[in-house]
Amino acid sequence: MIGYQLFLYKTSFLQSDVNQEAPAIIQSYYDKLLVGCLGGEGGDEHDVFWFWLEKGKPHECPVCFQYFLLEVIGAGGSPDGHGDGHHH
Ligand SMILES: [Zn+2]
Repeated sequence: MIGYQLFLYKTSFLQSDVNQEAPAIIQSYYDKLLVGCLGGEGGDEHDVFWFWLEKGKPHECPVCFQYFLLEVIGAGGSPDGHGDGHHH
């Protein structure tokens, strides 16, 4: 069972409204989230581009140049559910 949380993102506003200073806030229960960007509506759409959005690391979609920032809800943690300290 894959525990990754997916988020499909499509803006309803102009891409110029989302930049490094005012990124789109994506909420997650984990410290990282697989996000699929679809660009904006009305001609600004693009094929889905998947990328990992990690806590504290804003990510720019290389296709439409929108910025995303992860907002962790609650305690956060790893999406695989094992937490820290279980690496071999
Ligand atoms: Zn995009």
